[in-house]
Amino acid sequence: MTDCVFCNIINKTIPSQPVFENGNLLVINDINPKAPVHLLVVPKKHINGIHTLAAGDEALAGELIFVAKQMAEKFGVGESGYKLVFNVGRDGGQVVPHLHLHLLGGRQLAE
Ligand code: 5GP
Ligand code: ZN
Repeated sequence: MTDCVFCNIINKTIPSQPVFENGNLLVINDINPKAPVHLLVVPKKHINGIHTLAAGDEALAGELIFVAKQMAEKFGVGESGYKLVFNVGRDGGQVVPHLHLHLLGGRQLAE
């Protein structure tokens, strides 16, 4: 998807400095961080969001969560705790229509 910001980060049209990458996903720092640690776990496959996950995407969805857990440890919030957030669709506050998992930590995030 050439007009998708995260696809363009993944295909390197937009330069970025991923903090982690494997064959299925990329982890980047959020450009507008809401917490001392604010990472985005982004699948390389373009999926609009949780609402368009399809049969066959189960393992990828699980991998996003597992890698987020690993990143929390790597970035020092594994013990203090953190929040994992999928914003879904308009009412969910999703702005970028490419599936991503927010990892937020390093401050109190309870509401
Ligand atoms: P959403 O509301 O869609 O769940 O969140 C999208 C997130 O992507 C926002 O937190 C926003 O700051 C972040 N973001 C938007 N554009 C870019 C970008 O070009 N690079 C990075 N690293 N983050 C972005
Ligand atoms: Zn995309």
